[in-house]
Amino acid sequence: MEHRPINLASDNTAGAHPEVMRALADAAATPAMPYGDDPWTARLQERAAAAFEHPLAIYPVGTGTAANALALATLVPSWGVVLCHHAAHVEEDECAAPEFYSGGAKLALMDGENGRISADSLAARLDFATPAPRVHRAQPAAVSITQSTESGTVYGLDEVRDISAVCRQHGLALHMDGARLANAVAALGCSPADITWRSGVDVLSLGATKNGALCAETVVFFDTGLCDEFEFRRKRGGHLFSKMRFASAQMVPWLEEGRWIRLAEHANRMAVELADGLAGIPGITLQFPVETNMIFLDLPVATSGALARAGCLFYSWGERDGRVSARLVTSFETTREDVAHVIDTARAG
Ligand SMILES: *Cc1c(COP(=O)(O)O)cnc(C)c1O
Repeated sequence: MEHRPINLASDNTAGAHPEVMRALADAAATPAMPYGDDPWTARLQERAAAAFEHPLAIYPVGTGTAANALALATLVPSWGVVLCHHAAHVEEDECAAPEFYSGGAKLALMDGENGRISADSLAARLDFATPAPRVHRAQPAAVSITQSTESGTVYGLDEVRDISAVCRQHGLALHMDGARLANAVAALGCSPADITWRSGVDVLSLGATKNGALCAETVVFFDTGLCDEFEFRRKRGGHLFSKMRFASAQMVPWLEEGRWIRLAEHANRMAVELADGLAGIPGITLQFPVETNMIFLDLPVATSGALARAGCLFYSWGERDGRVSARLVTSFETTREDVAHVIDTARAG
């Protein structure tokens, strides 16, 4: 039987959850005051504070890039340095937006296995002394870690706490890029609070777009002391929505009753089942441990071609010596049938 096309290029190829669509329809049914002075945005503040078990301020913005860039610009001066993994979204996928929004702050790239930096390498980097007077160097001001990482792995609670301890010791802020935070929370089986403010995260970019929302990205401040400055930066950067209720409304049902974690749990489960099946096929190898909803594979060109012909879409990094490096991403919409179809096709191909 012909199977429906399966799009595993990314989790932002998925549609939106029915509860999100219902919330949008509700928000469209009545007029409301603009710029966040509306009941949905007020509800979002309450739901987010409840989900994170902490007073906070949550700000919808247009994209995850804007969330990261505005958050980092608020944390560092223009002569500041943000330390991050070399594969970080802020480095690889944001067209220098953090540098632009911060007025020229630098990203300092770090190595680290499986998409993670370690507290030890961070400490070693920060302890490095030069004889030049301090004024000659851009000043380390923040660390940005991605949870779950660009390699589909997760930082454990201890790892985040250790990184945060080094940050405290050196007077740096800790930012977390949580475009896929829910997948990490589901993988760790911890609470959203445990892996963020309780582990020393100061500011979080929290994304819902890849996990059930239409398009909803936010910045979350656990310490509201920086909010005043952030609000000016957000408006000046063009990310204060006049009809903010539509951004906020998407995240109200999403955050309710742990729905965001359940959706991510499903995506993770589908990825693990898919990875298990694919890794059992001779000639296919996994590049990273599959801990959330992203699978990085090395596979024969013939298998890659067979998948493409069967209507399975995914990103690949070109051919080399008859092999292809590929990324498959599952979402809240991926089904068991999709997974079985991809495995069967790969096995036959
Ligand atoms: C998707 C993603 C973002 C947000 O990307 P936008 O396209 O700007 O919305 C940010 N960080 C990570 C790690 C992502 O995967």
